[in-house]
Amino acid sequence: MTATNHALTGAFIGLVIINPLIALPLALLSHFVCDAIPHFGSGHDHIEANWFKRLLIVDIGVCVVIAGVFATARPEHWFLAIVCAVLATSPDAMWLPHFIRARRGVSFKSEVPLLLRFHGAIQWFERPSGAAVEIVWAAAFITMLTLIAV
Ligand SMILES: [Zn+2]
Repeated sequence: MTATNHALTGAFIGLVIINPLIALPLALLSHFVCDAIPHFGSGHDHIEANWFKRLLIVDIGVCVVIAGVFATARPEHWFLAIVCAVLATSPDAMWLPHFIRARRGVSFKSEVPLLLRFHGAIQWFERPSGAAVEIVWAAAFITMLTLIAV
């Protein structure tokens, strides 16, 4: 799932759960639940494509904007919402070495860590048509966050 939707989900968890001892692990867990839902992508070969790099930059930029909105508007529990948003997004950082290797044209390691294999395997439906799910997910969470935070 896009970083934007992971961040929106994490922020929602932070604002609703409010107990950090529950919200923080739940935000982290939400990443893998969201990745198991059909979402946008074109399989694992897209990591080398230029459009993916551009999308990634925009996606990260939107996450920064989301954090900025919470930091500016400061609804109750805004800081926990930002931390949960970061935590919910953070597992995708494990793809970074993979991304860098692909961008440099270096072959992948033959030995893939178990957690990375799990992270890839749960994303059973990562196709262009998954963009519809991403759009509905984003609209739903933006609506809920607006209703809660305003
Ligand atoms: Zn992921």
